[in-house]
Amino acid sequence: MTLSPPRLAPVPLVDLAAAHAEVAQEVQAGFARVLATTQFIKGPDVAAFEEEFAAFCGVRHCVGTASGTDAVELALRAAGAGPGDSVLLPANTFIATAEAVLRAGARPLLVDVDPEGLLMDPARVPDALDADGGGRGVKVLVPVHLHGQLAPMEDLLALARRHGLTVVEDAAQAHGAKRYGRPAGAWGRLAATSFYPGKNLGAYGDGGAVLTDDAELADTVRLLGDHGSRHKYVHERHGFNSRLDTLQAVVLRAKLTRLADWNARRHAAAERYAALLGAMDGVLLPAVLPGNQHIWHVYAVRVPHRDAVLAHLQGHGIGAGVHYPVPVHLQPAFRPFGYARGDFPVAERAAEELLSLPLFPHITAAQQERVADTLATALAATQ
Ligand SMILES: *Cc1c(COP(=O)(O)O)cnc(C)c1O
Repeated sequence: MTLSPPRLAPVPLVDLAAAHAEVAQEVQAGFARVLATTQFIKGPDVAAFEEEFAAFCGVRHCVGTASGTDAVELALRAAGAGPGDSVLLPANTFIATAEAVLRAGARPLLVDVDPEGLLMDPARVPDALDADGGGRGVKVLVPVHLHGQLAPMEDLLALARRHGLTVVEDAAQAHGAKRYGRPAGAWGRLAATSFYPGKNLGAYGDGGAVLTDDAELADTVRLLGDHGSRHKYVHERHGFNSRLDTLQAVVLRAKLTRLADWNARRHAAAERYAALLGAMDGVLLPAVLPGNQHIWHVYAVRVPHRDAVLAHLQGHGIGAGVHYPVPVHLQPAFRPFGYARGDFPVAERAAEELLSLPLFPHITAAQQERVADTLATALAATQ
């Protein structure tokens, strides 16, 4: 008689259930409170969350929005970017950063990333300025703190100063990340972030926020996101409807009190992966740039024959993924901008090699060991 091996439970890329279990009671009590008042838009929970999150990020003002993409757009508009302007952003980012530039009416000008951190490379910014005819129409620079660590902000701020650009951080993947002790969101004139459920601080639906130290800019963002209106039925500007829902604010307030602990757990899990995978042939571990406190939104290694390795992992119950398989300039929607393969070689190569492994605060050592074992088998099977 042959016994078939026991079926192991799949390891998901992200498991939101354990995080929910920690806050479930608080969230339910908060929802009950909001339901009793039926104030679903604005109200004390939104105001309290905005204050608490601003304090967490070390800035004076936080304005909730309906999504992270909206937050980037509203921050760009507040920074004055619009038709006739160009906005610098890295070629290796989630599409939302580029979409927000387009929605603000500006032109996205992509910059290649550095080969280690895969973050906007200050050395490549001059190429992008040349592509814009000396940078005369460039107004804003958007560094993206990809995977949970900050872009080299002091260099980018120096470049921005030299060329008269406003810096708007895309901090959607970097809740609680720091660089030389200074939090993501506290470097630019403005910063945008997302509370998409899978982010380190995730809502139970869409949400986002704009951060800034500047009261006037915060006021502009709030005005734009609330129909251009400060007083009911008086519309000063052409605005939008983009506000953070009250029920989402309840979830985010409960989760924010755990975020530091959850980020610490992600850090411990990243260290465990480094120990498990460090000596594995063919696996390049993610690099943490000097000065950075990484919060491991994504744990992405680089491997040869990535697509085959990914298929093997997925076929064996490991919910690996790719952030992101096609860089912005090679997306069909970006064809009109005339970019071609070869324009951003570092980003293109990363897109072929990056492999995101399951990582979330409550991942167990046993799950990580299984990921490592399966990855070793996958690499052996695909070389
Ligand atoms: C998630 C994300 C956004 C915005 O996302 P939404 O889904 O609109 O909240 C923007 N930029 C980056 C880099 C992101 O990862």
